[in-house]
Amino acid sequence: MTSHPIHPDGPTLSRIIAGAWRWHSVSAEQVDRLIQTSLDEGITSFDHADIYGDHGNEAIFGQSLKRNPSLRSRMQLITKCGIKFPSPHRPATWIKHYDTSKEHIQWSAENSLKMLGTDHIDVLLIHRPDPLMHPAEMAEAFLRLRKEGKVLHFGVSNFTPTQFRMFQSYLDFPLITNQIEISLNRIDSLFNGDLDTAIEFKASPMAWSPLGGGKPLMVDEREVFGKAARYNASYTQLALAWLMKHPAFIFPIIGTTKPERIKEAAWSTQVNLDRQDWFEMLKWVMGKEMP
Ligand code: NAP
Repeated sequence: MTSHPIHPDGPTLSRIIAGAWRWHSVSAEQVDRLIQTSLDEGITSFDHADIYGDHGNEAIFGQSLKRNPSLRSRMQLITKCGIKFPSPHRPATWIKHYDTSKEHIQWSAENSLKMLGTDHIDVLLIHRPDPLMHPAEMAEAFLRLRKEGKVLHFGVSNFTPTQFRMFQSYLDFPLITNQIEISLNRIDSLFNGDLDTAIEFKASPMAWSPLGGGKPLMVDEREVFGKAARYNASYTQLALAWLMKHPAFIFPIIGTTKPERIKEAAWSTQVNLDRQDWFEMLKWVMGKEMP
């Protein structure tokens, strides 16, 4: 697996990223295996959020790093902040809401450092656009974390193109990504300006749930298997290759909890889809050809 800058000003991330959202559902030994298998396959970038696993997954990952401290220097850690929900771990929160105040961004990033057991986060993202966000406030928090060396690069997630542009206009360093939901199960970003904006700002997107969270596609299986067989690939590999063919240079974030599926996904970087096959896969999910 190769690595690439996600933005001309960095950072360099693996072409496929491993997402830790579901990793609280497996044992500590399995988390060790997931990390090791990812690294063995060249998947060196790991996606987290403060809230994953009811605020527990960063610590689970941090414990694994504690057992294997030499691994930290071989990986890039991405995490997110800004969502709050009621939980025994957050007794002061009584309603789900977003908080992009500078105090919360600073606190959350510092807490992520503690949970992950690291002295820096490679990429910090605002998890979702907050209806009460002000870009100047978020920019102040980012600037401080950057000056302190606690976070190296910054981005957003689930932002619309106008929200991305607004926030970028308040920063004198680049937002390096917008992490969005895009897959054969969810194609809105192809047509709503998300990917155009990514290309405009040279900020390659990360794709969350790139396999639709494991939900099957409602398409004729014979067609899918026929195409997969022609590429000597699995459906998973075709679906990831379909994302990676886009000129916005999408970085898929896979969410499996199975080492063998990490290996399967890694092989998708070898699949070079023909343009017409790409459009046929789009037709599977649109139910019709392009106009
Ligand atoms: P995904 O890779 O689309 O889905 C993974 C799920 O599909 C797992 O439950 C997996 O089960 C299942 N699956 C079934 N067949 C599979 C196969 N052949 N290969 C691989 N997986 C298969 O991604 P996701 O977990 O929904 O999301 C990926 C990452 O995106 C998360 O870990 C998180 O880091 C990030 N994310 C971000 C946001 C955001 O708002 N920014 C939102 C959601 C997720 P097994 O575990 O049994 O393989």
